[in-house]
Amino acid sequence: MNPYRKRSSLLFVIAIVWLAITGCKQHQAVQPPQTAEDSRPPSASPAPEPPPPGKQQDADPSPSSNPAAPEEKSFKVKLSAVGDVLIHSSVYKDAQTPEGYDFKPMFEPVKRYIEDADIALANQESMIGGEELGLSDYPRFNGPAEVGDALKDAGFDVVNLANNHTLDRGEQAVLNTIRRYKDLGMVYTGAYMSDDDRRQLRTLDKNGISFAFLSYTYGTNGIPVPEGKEYLLNIIDLPKIRKEVAEARKQADVVVVSFHFGQEYADMPNDEQKEVARAAAEAGAAVVIGHHPHVLQPAEWIGTADGRQAFVVYSLGNFIAAQEGDRKRIGGIIQLEVEKTVKGDDIRIQVKRPSFIPTWIHRVNWRKYKVEPLRTVEESQLPHAGAAWREIADHMKQWMPELDFPAS
Ligand SMILES: [Zn+2]
Repeated sequence: MNPYRKRSSLLFVIAIVWLAITGCKQHQAVQPPQTAEDSRPPSASPAPEPPPPGKQQDADPSPSSNPAAPEEKSFKVKLSAVGDVLIHSSVYKDAQTPEGYDFKPMFEPVKRYIEDADIALANQESMIGGEELGLSDYPRFNGPAEVGDALKDAGFDVVNLANNHTLDRGEQAVLNTIRRYKDLGMVYTGAYMSDDDRRQLRTLDKNGISFAFLSYTYGTNGIPVPEGKEYLLNIIDLPKIRKEVAEARKQADVVVVSFHFGQEYADMPNDEQKEVARAAAEAGAAVVIGHHPHVLQPAEWIGTADGRQAFVVYSLGNFIAAQEGDRKRIGGIIQLEVEKTVKGDDIRIQVKRPSFIPTWIHRVNWRKYKVEPLRTVEESQLPHAGAAWREIADHMKQWMPELDFPAS
């Protein structure tokens, strides 16, 4: 008998026994970058497991004779997210053209950062039900459908629709918004057209890594969700979130959860935000993106019981909006690198190299809206802009010193 074949058979048997013991369990080790442990499982991981077949083969004194030795492969995806797209009337009036509305120029100064990401997320806080429903401002927003075209043009792939303003103008505004994003070929999450629509997990595959997107809001400003139409909006409910995140994790390598939560205008997350973010992380989320406070709240790693490090940013502030006050004009683009390492049956997910680009909502007399990097803001817009940039950097990285602030 061919000795190679004999050895292969033996390894095959070992592999089958090992698989039976571990049940094909995948490792998900999300770790902060630039640590010595980057390439190995976290020290807090559960009890040691039998080494996978690949590891046993590595110990073979003549590995070259082993035809089944798995190679390590790695895949990378750049993921970006921004905060609230909140279309007040002065923003849509500024976008008006003889033919309709054009919001594209507003995102031009930051477009290159969004396009640079393989996957970019935005929070569509106000629905874009279109002119047919009548446009409206606070407290019951409805914006032009062309907002969606501009987000697509800027390079966004995924829109979160679970917000306290989702139901402002009723079911039709939600359905119109969804229809626009469907027509644009974008992924929407958090508000759905039907129960069937809601049951379909939102996923995107990029560069060999599969992502799932979930989103939830704390509430609706007191507007009741129509009875029997709970699919219209995902409300934060911890048991439901735990179940849905765990389900999503079975279907995708990386689960990204957006939460519309927290206290408006508060610089720091409250206990509830921390509890909700931790619940999502423990259930399997690798990335948690927060919004609603309209100002920035810091980022941190959440160490989970199974030894992963999930990334959370509690609030990304306003991306485009017309609120008074400098702090509400500062938002930002969070950028993450997600790496998947595959060796045999061992699959590891790591979130790495977090960076943040603070942004500024430029306007002159409630017109000429533009989202631009805070770093390049003119003093006429924001006196002491340089000091503001440094303050924002210190604020955002207070729990994550390695959070990078790229110079350009
Ligand atoms: Zn909100």
